[in-house]
Amino acid sequence: MAQTVFFFGGGQADGSAADKQLLGGKGANLAEMTRLGLPVPPGFTISTEACNHFFAQSNAWPEGMEASVREGIAKVEALTGKSFGGAHNPLLFSVRSGAPVSMPGMMDTVLNLGLNDETVAGLAEQSGNARFAWDSYRRFLKMFGDVVLRIHTSRFARVHKSLYPGIDEDKLDTEQLQALCRGYKQVVEGAVGHFPADPWEQLEAAINAVFESFNTPRARYYRKTNGIPEDCGTAVNVQTMVFGNLGEGSATGVAFTRDPSTGQNIFFGEWLPNAQGEDVVAGTHTPRALNQDKDADAQDTLKAAMPKVYAELDGLQNRLEAHYRDMQDIEFTVEKGTLYLLQTRTGKRTPAAAVQIAVDLVSEGIITEEEALGRIQPELLEMVLRPTLDPKAKRKVIGKGLPASPGAASGKVVFHSEEAQELHDRGEAVVLVRMETSPEDIQGMTVAEGILTSRGGQTSHAAVVARGMGKPCVVGASEIAVDYGRQLFYAGDTVIRRGDFITLDGATGEIMEGNIPTLPAATDSGAMSQLLEWADARARLQVRANADTGRDAVRARELGAVGIGLCRTEHMFFNPVALRAMRQLILAEDKRSRQRALAQVLPLQRADFEEIFVAMDGLPVTIRLLDPPLHEFLPASPEDISTVAEDLGVKPEKLQERLNALHESNPMLGHRGVRLGLTSPEIYETQVRALLEAAAAVSAKGIEVLPEIMIPLVGVPGELELMRKLVNDIAQEVLAEVGVDLDYSVGTMIELPRACLLADQIAQHADFFSFGTNDLTQMTWGFSRDDMSKFFPAYMHEGLLKGSPLATFDTEGVGQLVRTAVERGRAAKERIKLGICGEHGGDPVGIRFFHDVGLDYVSCSPFRVPVARLAAAHAALGI
Ligand code: PEP
Ligand code: MG
Repeated sequence: MAQTVFFFGGGQADGSAADKQLLGGKGANLAEMTRLGLPVPPGFTISTEACNHFFAQSNAWPEGMEASVREGIAKVEALTGKSFGGAHNPLLFSVRSGAPVSMPGMMDTVLNLGLNDETVAGLAEQSGNARFAWDSYRRFLKMFGDVVLRIHTSRFARVHKSLYPGIDEDKLDTEQLQALCRGYKQVVEGAVGHFPADPWEQLEAAINAVFESFNTPRARYYRKTNGIPEDCGTAVNVQTMVFGNLGEGSATGVAFTRDPSTGQNIFFGEWLPNAQGEDVVAGTHTPRALNQDKDADAQDTLKAAMPKVYAELDGLQNRLEAHYRDMQDIEFTVEKGTLYLLQTRTGKRTPAAAVQIAVDLVSEGIITEEEALGRIQPELLEMVLRPTLDPKAKRKVIGKGLPASPGAASGKVVFHSEEAQELHDRGEAVVLVRMETSPEDIQGMTVAEGILTSRGGQTSHAAVVARGMGKPCVVGASEIAVDYGRQLFYAGDTVIRRGDFITLDGATGEIMEGNIPTLPAATDSGAMSQLLEWADARARLQVRANADTGRDAVRARELGAVGIGLCRTEHMFFNPVALRAMRQLILAEDKRSRQRALAQVLPLQRADFEEIFVAMDGLPVTIRLLDPPLHEFLPASPEDISTVAEDLGVKPEKLQERLNALHESNPMLGHRGVRLGLTSPEIYETQVRALLEAAAAVSAKGIEVLPEIMIPLVGVPGELELMRKLVNDIAQEVLAEVGVDLDYSVGTMIELPRACLLADQIAQHADFFSFGTNDLTQMTWGFSRDDMSKFFPAYMHEGLLKGSPLATFDTEGVGQLVRTAVERGRAAKERIKLGICGEHGGDPVGIRFFHDVGLDYVSCSPFRVPVARLAAAHAALGI
């Protein structure tokens, strides 16, 4: 077998930063820092290949590894002058796991390895601090017992409690610690027979424990859900211990080369005097600020307490950042005035900080614009402008749904739109909880901080509308049971009642109990616009937005949309007056009452269209004629039916009768889309009239209007031919009436498999195609997008699918249909304009595919426009 043990120390290392696969992230960086001549305590890294061998060969070490480990120890002994197991100047190690990608759920760290009854005396003698030595020993016994021997920590806690009730371990004196160590050793002996006093035996067991922790169910689950290969293995880092808890002049801390929350270029971090690393991370002590950049009390800063050490650390952090060309997160320890670096890695940061840092690094001349583009995952941009959960806040997750629209939201639970409004008017934050939402819930959704539904998928009404509004939303949380009658919902054993606080994380789908602190949405400091300018200069795909109101259109334009790719006219009926008129239309029994109702709809739609055209001056606006089945505009529950009947002045029975007549077994496969245009042409006629009148009116005011009229759900070429004629007839009428000449185009959504296959014939009648990948996905897969949350978790659980094809475009299946339609459509009409307006227009995987097949544009919800712009650049650059 190839080399398994890689030494680092004394300015030399066998590995380097390039060996991340072989040495893990931590090991590669320790090697690299050592090569740079930085003060890294010496040690060695056992390779990931050794780990893989361990599993392949029934937990046996590769041949020669034992000798190499012993050789590594000898080298460390030579460098440090200490001896492993020595009674006078004992060498102690830390043993840590370190996979190529960080992986929660694996064994983390054993500190102070090498201690036993003899070496503890040596440590006391060498450090001149007996209390410290025994404190290190008790830490080791517990940590080793817990993570290597898998003895439950409660057994140690019981000993501690029986000996010294109510006194913290760090308040015990030397004698008490000695007694505690005796007690802990007995726990170990009781649990596993004997305490391995031999340091070599300890090391062997710790190395094996790290290897084994790679295969725990938690670690395996994490790999599966995050697409991390099973054979990446973990490395083991064995490194000389240095002590931050050796009294005065000793300390430990964590530093970031830039502020990880904002990205500002300030040196930032926390430290604790006289403590070990775990104390900072564990949150058991309140750490102090490194310097004064974060409103710190000057006396408490490392800068004031240890000015020389601080100056050295500041110099090193600058070197590290310059070397790695990115923000670093550094762990350090100061032992009796000497500074050591224990780890450096690319620092985690908030989305806003990520953008700021990437852009700043370009202006500082450290990376190129293209590198900056490549450093940002497109999805991150949707989160920059949203509140996020405070990472430090404690949270109790009570359930999980599908992440439908990112951002964190806390508020009091309400179950009805009206209640949401009432509480909102009183200045309270609310979260609207529904089984599913419908147009009637719009008001409540508008005022709510966040939306949670127990049903529906990522293209359900709630998801699409929330995304359009830029609101945090979790959908399809099938583990929660909503009881409207009793005004509560169950999440496992937890009952959440109306008025109780919950918090949602729309990026992960988590539902949490209580009012968890959030960090406010960042405002763009200019960094995001700068990054997106660089993106636009490289992208080929244009990015439009799906927007149904003037306000959304304005926002979309601010976020960089170059047109509207989908205006869903049904969303205009969210307005109560329009909804009422629509209901009258549906209930009308003769032509005259239908015309009367339509006459009410017309001015409302016209006004909406005018606003959108004004917002999109000079840019194309694709307006889709009515698509959903009509029953969606009518109430469903008996109470709502009586209220609506009363409002409309009809008997509830009559309304019920109409509902019965409209009932369909599969409404998604039913009377909707162009089928409505065929059976109730007056609806489409009214909509076309409204939009062209609006276009004429604003163009008379000097606004440049480019309307594109779109017919949904076409599957028969003749359908489009007929509708095109309908549009042209009305246009002729309207334009003659207003005396304005106006260009418009007519096209279709491609959202049925049949439409893809007959794209050449359909193209004869179309100026443009816009792929409706929401419907195209559900029609191709043969599931209903509103019901999939019921069975989809099983597909995830079985590992059949990695994610929902409604959220991440199915390039393999649905992609074939899109490709076919593009080829056939373009063969019939070379210059036909091609776009996509399904939710995948904001999905980076989809965007790469749409770039590759040669679409002209993608269209997505306004808040995803930045995501799509960056993803389009990534696709063009092949990142
Ligand atoms: C689609 O089907 O992709 C689409 C955009 O239309 P809707 O989601 O409104 O059905
Ligand atoms: Mg559709």
